[in-house]
Amino acid sequence: MTEVVIDKLGVSFGDFTALQEISLDIRSGEFITLLGPSGCGKTTLLKTIAGFVPVTSGDIRMNGQCVHRLPPEKRDTAMCFQSYALFPHLTVAENLLFGLRQAKVSVAEQKQRLQEIAGQMSLESQLNKLPAELSGGQQQRVALGRALVNRPGVMLFDEPLSNLDAKLRDSVRLEIRKLQKSLGFTAIYVTHDQSEALAMSDRMVVMNQGRIQQTGAPESVYHRPVNPFVADFVGGANILPGEVLEQQENYRYRVRTALGELWVHSEQPPVSRHAQICWRPENMQFGHAAENHLQLQVTTKTFLGNLTDFMLTSGKDDLSVRIQVQGTRQVQEGQSYAFHIPATAIHFLQEDA
Ligand code: ATP
Repeated sequence: MTEVVIDKLGVSFGDFTALQEISLDIRSGEFITLLGPSGCGKTTLLKTIAGFVPVTSGDIRMNGQCVHRLPPEKRDTAMCFQSYALFPHLTVAENLLFGLRQAKVSVAEQKQRLQEIAGQMSLESQLNKLPAELSGGQQQRVALGRALVNRPGVMLFDEPLSNLDAKLRDSVRLEIRKLQKSLGFTAIYVTHDQSEALAMSDRMVVMNQGRIQQTGAPESVYHRPVNPFVADFVGGANILPGEVLEQQENYRYRVRTALGELWVHSEQPPVSRHAQICWRPENMQFGHAAENHLQLQVTTKTFLGNLTDFMLTSGKDDLSVRIQVQGTRQVQEGQSYAFHIPATAIHFLQEDA
């Protein structure tokens, strides 16, 4: 069991700053995902924890021990890559045993661990094959098994499922989560797929431009994104600038927006009199209500299977908002309809970090 503390970590490549002021306490046995757009620094952070990229400033500690000067093989980590990085000329068994042989583990122990990991990865019947003779999902399991056979305290995953088709990805991600819970290792998992991060994590870390934007449980990041970047990157959101006109008790605010005046019920106070407000498309509803009632025109209607997505406009300022409802609806593009948003579904955002 290994806890990881990252303290004000900075990483630069020459003049380019890839990571700034990264601080993160990862509990032993926790499953953390690093989520963010391409180039935001996810892989750099993972490689720095593994010891493949040197630290420019700050500190990394594992179980209280400062590790940032230790070489990768002296850290309690193993990495599972997107490309699998299997040795093509070695059999599945030889690939799985590679790390143990390097570590000069006894032959008897190698045999026992090979049997154990082959069972956990459902690879018993594949041990004598070469990687090229396996399916993508099987190769992915060999890569995972090869990392896990060394029994690391911390597993580092770099988009391990991105080469798999959607169905296989779903089942392998469940397998990884099950395995992680039963073996108890700490997992740090890089992805740019928000549904993967929402589904797998104990906590997710949303990054942009080398900085952490928000850290929290998936539900809290989804329902209470702190800033426009997180709101938009995780799930999509309606974000509007507003002017706070009045504050009442119980976190109620009257806010002027381009759509008209709206009541906002937000425990997060506005940053100033001028603040951005946000709500999720599925929290807006068709029909009249006592407050936050809007008359808007449907510009597009898109059937998404279990949901239908509508783009709406007030006809002013090219402003459009999105609503998603369960099932389908008898609604015409170009027609105007009544909508409302519960005040409790709207909250204030802070500035982007
Ligand atoms: P992706 O999802 O595309 O893999 P990422 O979030 O993992 O992206 P990183 O690979 O960590 O992003 O890269 C972060 C930034 O650091 C990028 O701008 C990249 O070009 C830069 N970078 C990464 N490694 C190096 C390096 N060795 N030398 C110079 N710049 C680098």
